[in-house]
Amino acid sequence: MALINQTLNGYTFTEFIGAGGFGSVYKATKDGSLYAIKVFREDYILQEYKQSGQNNRIQREIDIMKTVNHPYLIKYVDDFKGSDLSVPSYFLVMEFAEGETLQKLIKRNALQNEGQIIAIFKNILQGIKALHQIRGNDDGKGIIHRDLKPENIIVNGDRVKILDYGISKVIDYTTLTSTGNFLGSPLYSSPEQITDSKNIDKRSDLYTLGVVLYEMLTSKVPYEFTNLPELIDKIKNENPIPPRKYFADIKNKYENIIFKLLEKNPYQRYLNIDELISAFESDEAIPKREYDLSPRFVLRLWNEGSALDIYFQDHNDKLNVDFPAIHQFQQKKLLQRIQGNEFCTIIDPETVRFAYDTYTDTVGLKKLPYCPENFEVITPAYLNSYRKQQEYVKLVIDEEAKLGADIFISPYHYTHNTNVLPTYKQNPVEQWFDLDIKLLKEAIDYKNSVPEYADKKLYAGICINSGSLTDNQYKNDLLNYYSAHECDGYIVYADGIDKNTTPVTLYHYIDALLKLQRFTGRPVIAGRLNSLGLGLISLGLAGFSAGAARFESFSEELHKDRTQGFNLYERYYFPELLGTVSIEKKRPTRLNQISSVLGACQCLYCHGKAPEDVINAQNNKLHYIHSVTKEVETIKNETDKRGYFINRIDVAIRNYQRLTAVYKRDDYKHLLVWKEVFENIR
Ligand SMILES: [Zn+2]
Repeated sequence: MALINQTLNGYTFTEFIGAGGFGSVYKATKDGSLYAIKVFREDYILQEYKQSGQNNRIQREIDIMKTVNHPYLIKYVDDFKGSDLSVPSYFLVMEFAEGETLQKLIKRNALQNEGQIIAIFKNILQGIKALHQIRGNDDGKGIIHRDLKPENIIVNGDRVKILDYGISKVIDYTTLTSTGNFLGSPLYSSPEQITDSKNIDKRSDLYTLGVVLYEMLTSKVPYEFTNLPELIDKIKNENPIPPRKYFADIKNKYENIIFKLLEKNPYQRYLNIDELISAFESDEAIPKREYDLSPRFVLRLWNEGSALDIYFQDHNDKLNVDFPAIHQFQQKKLLQRIQGNEFCTIIDPETVRFAYDTYTDTVGLKKLPYCPENFEVITPAYLNSYRKQQEYVKLVIDEEAKLGADIFISPYHYTHNTNVLPTYKQNPVEQWFDLDIKLLKEAIDYKNSVPEYADKKLYAGICINSGSLTDNQYKNDLLNYYSAHECDGYIVYADGIDKNTTPVTLYHYIDALLKLQRFTGRPVIAGRLNSLGLGLISLGLAGFSAGAARFESFSEELHKDRTQGFNLYERYYFPELLGTVSIEKKRPTRLNQISSVLGACQCLYCHGKAPEDVINAQNNKLHYIHSVTKEVETIKNETDKRGYFINRIDVAIRNYQRLTAVYKRDDYKHLLVWKEVFENIR
């Protein structure tokens, strides 16, 4: 195309500036002002127009770009189709930016000192931040640049102009690769962008920023390679060469920032651009996060109304409770009780139970406003439309608000229901994992849209089969996807954590929870757990939930535990055994047997009482709540928390061994598993 000296739509092309992945850029003038005009290549771009007319992705992106208004982002002025040329083409008119590209500056070693480099880089961050904050694109959550590189950044003094944002989204890497035109250099692509460019989030830009900063500080790139396949392999699998190798005087903090940005998994990087920006302002590469991670026990409620009345005669601490929405119809007084200031209330919507056809056995579930009509079971297909998801989320969150939640839980379902792991999925929309993520995102948006919910917190509800976590890819997916959304914490229900759990499963379950908390800085609550929860707290997890003196592990079967024996036994908590024990109500022989060896409980509630009164349902609950709360306090004050808990396991094992009349090795084999895992987990 001979464009020089031609005039199109009033713009006179004066100079060729350069060629990029999807076209050429020219300098042009109109009414005495300077402009840069990008002329798109006909192939892919025009295909879009042919297929979708005016409502194509390029047009949508351009519409968003027109709303961008930030000094560090190049301004889009105009766009038009060149119908009067012999070759079909598309023109994008932008402001003309004076200066030199960062690429050229790096090449000719023009970046003088660290201070100047960081000043420029911080301005690049401000530009990317503005981009990430733009609302109105297809996910309503800002634009991902996707093609940031030194060539796309014009520098003038400390000031920058970032080019080509957003537009590269329409240029699918795979499409271009298949036609032999790889867009630009993959050097700046994140590992996830190379693997699956369609499913990336803003943290992909953070990786790219890591490469850019690396290059600015060292004039080198993070990997040595001689060809494209080698580079791609290294981006995906190899640690970057430490920048110190090229720039011995690099500040520790900057090197650490680069390492964190270049992490292979998005969840290992910064949560968002704001956190990265604050890293430059703080002394540490990872600034402190604001969330409260102090250990807490969350009492999962059932019928503890009168027990709580008594409890608060003797205690004035705040109690964390988890109230399953289904109990509202039977436990009206209890529900009223927990609206008080002495409670921090989580409402469990129990949406997971609608994923099973057995939900119809339970009357209360059918009364919940979000219960599907006509005996439908909630499946990804049931919630396949965006509108339906929105309605569902609104019903769930509003119900939780109505029940007095301080902490909302996003609707969650059983991600294990499908045997297809998210990584191997064929159609992501039809899978549980994606559905629950979408519902979480929707729940965050809905909560943020309601002014009365401003002081509430929203935790992501996650329900998994713990066995799935032994698959590293699945675990990484879980961490990557859930950490991407800005909730206030997580409550994780896991099936398969019980007395028969293998060391491998237990290890990966704990590892996943700890990583989720460590990398997001947000509290993670292990939902419905036995005394293992105390162990998780000793490892730094924020909390766990358990019912008062009830057998707790996550299994739908337990909801139906209404067998004959149900009314004949109570479960009594023995801290010395790290668990609850089934005791006959009428003649508590087992209580006597155990107490005769370990000694009777001397707590506020059991002290001096006859065995039948100790085991009495109400006393039993008080004993449990009192004991566990105290244990959590003890762990809080321990310096070597893990050591403390391993010791507790040892003591419990020895106690079981002393109770030869009651127990065999099989009865405490789970403690041997705990010990093995707690000694190995990092
Ligand atoms: Zn007691």
